[in-house]
Amino acid sequence: MSKTKGKVVSVNESLVGTKITSGAVINGEVAYIHIDGDKRLKAEVIDVKKGGIVYLQVFEDTKWMKVGDSVAFTGLPLAVKLGPGILGSVTDGLQNPLYELAEKEWFLERGLEVSPLDTTLKWHFTPSIQKGDSITGGAVLGHVPEKLFKHKIFVPFSVRETYVVAHIVPEGEYTIADDIATLKNSDGGTKVLQMAFDWPVKVPMPFYERSVPEKPMPTGIRILDALFPIAFGGTACNPGPFGAGKTVLQHSLARHSQADVVIIAACGERAGEAVEVFKDFPELIDPRTGKSLMDRTYIVGNTSSMPVAAREASVYMATTVGEYYRKQGLNVLILADSTSRWAQALRETSGRKEEIPGPEAFPMYISTLISAFYDRAGVELLPEGEMGSLSIIGTVSPAGGNFDEPVTQATLLSTGAFWGLSRALSDARKYPAIDRIDSTSKYPSLLQKEEVLYLLDLLRDGKSIASNILLMGEKGITDESYIRYQKAELLDAVFLQQNSFHKVDGVTDPERLHLMFTMIKEIIDATVVIEGKETIRSHFNFIRQAFLDWNYMQLNDKNYEKQKSRLLILVKQMGYVKENV
Ligand code: ADP
Ligand code: MG
Repeated sequence: MSKTKGKVVSVNESLVGTKITSGAVINGEVAYIHIDGDKRLKAEVIDVKKGGIVYLQVFEDTKWMKVGDSVAFTGLPLAVKLGPGILGSVTDGLQNPLYELAEKEWFLERGLEVSPLDTTLKWHFTPSIQKGDSITGGAVLGHVPEKLFKHKIFVPFSVRETYVVAHIVPEGEYTIADDIATLKNSDGGTKVLQMAFDWPVKVPMPFYERSVPEKPMPTGIRILDALFPIAFGGTACNPGPFGAGKTVLQHSLARHSQADVVIIAACGERAGEAVEVFKDFPELIDPRTGKSLMDRTYIVGNTSSMPVAAREASVYMATTVGEYYRKQGLNVLILADSTSRWAQALRETSGRKEEIPGPEAFPMYISTLISAFYDRAGVELLPEGEMGSLSIIGTVSPAGGNFDEPVTQATLLSTGAFWGLSRALSDARKYPAIDRIDSTSKYPSLLQKEEVLYLLDLLRDGKSIASNILLMGEKGITDESYIRYQKAELLDAVFLQQNSFHKVDGVTDPERLHLMFTMIKEIIDATVVIEGKETIRSHFNFIRQAFLDWNYMQLNDKNYEKQKSRLLILVKQMGYVKENV
């Protein structure tokens, strides 16, 4: 705690003006406002004005705060405690565990603070350095097993000088509060380390060495893996109107994407939505391990009833924890739903500060903040040939589904993939309702480049023929065009659409994706000789149904091969088909 003190002079919802009575203040430091006796509310300095006036953004409800309340400044920035024990936990944006308190009530009582990581839990520590070794920030002191992973215990990354190990504990059981190493430098300076350390959430953790995201991350979602992929370390913008399927998509990604660690930043759209995440996720089974999905998940969340400032904090909390697990050599995925809630929080605060507003009253600097957030994603080359990655997928919920608004636009410019959800598709229940034509990705697909272009080509043809049909009726187009249109519709129905809630269809692994593609290609390449729109349509209907039935069968299902043969016979019945499936 620094010696700086102050008094509250104004309260405007979560923005509190303070007059400094002693000491000096720096922007971004944490302060506590003392209200009725022993309660204190956490806040962050967001503006230092001339004349000793400082604006604080309070992370909690300011209802009972009053002018004259005393303020104590800490001199320290908002930080996260990094160490073993984060996986499996559910916290708010200030790393207060919500899960532990769940039995009493779902959310923290005002002014209550709990230790971010369990300080009583023992971890089995195995040292990997010895007395006399020279080390610096980022060096590995040893490791402990944490759920599925070997968790490295680091010398805090902020340590710049070289130190010599004066003492390291032997292998054994320790808590994160126990001292495990003593370091000395040439000036006689001493550092005593524990298994956890603090890192300021708004400061990106420096990359050891940064590399380009170019390896596709299988997500199990066919339209993404085939047409609009994301890479390990990549970023994606997922905007969509209310009810179009953003949250369902995020949950599907959490369960099925090939990331090691999943971090969910839940800023609920609907009241109670974040609480649903907190309650539902711990019950989910990880399809890969058969154990709880929480073993490799960290949830940081806010509900719409929590103050706006806490939403902003949760985005930074998620990112910092993500960077830490990337340093562990793992592939981390952050799912932020919805980033518009964060942007709205910034807008509210900016409005209270009476800043000059930008488009739609968002602060001018919104695009800078959004791009800085996504820039923290990436691939990191670590010492000894190890690699880690942090991918970020953020949903955006623009009012009225209008993608021209500032948050969608800024996110679009800062991310490598754009998955725009379409109201027309979700109304037609064509899930996932990701726009087939307007979505994009700069990352490599699980399919070959020519294969992707081949599919996109058919989709574009299908769309233009569909609009001709709308204009001129089916009679107005040739059988040949109609067949092309039916092929595009088939591709959409059996490959791009996917039932998130079905055990088999809900997730497609890369092997099956390729298999399905080969089958689709067989159909698309078939020379169709049947004539008449009615005949063509009904034949494609048969094929579609047979294909869907096949999609719902497990690879080891005894009927799987039989169904595939049935499908091929149906294809042959309508004309010539090359036989190489
Ligand atoms: P948003 O988060 O965009 O407001 P949701 O993700 O909550 O929308 O989706 C709204 C509803 O749409 C879901 O409750 C579900 O019924 C349906 N839905 C969305 N995506 C899918 C999907 N992939 N498969 C099946 N149903 C879906
Ligand atoms: Mg949602």
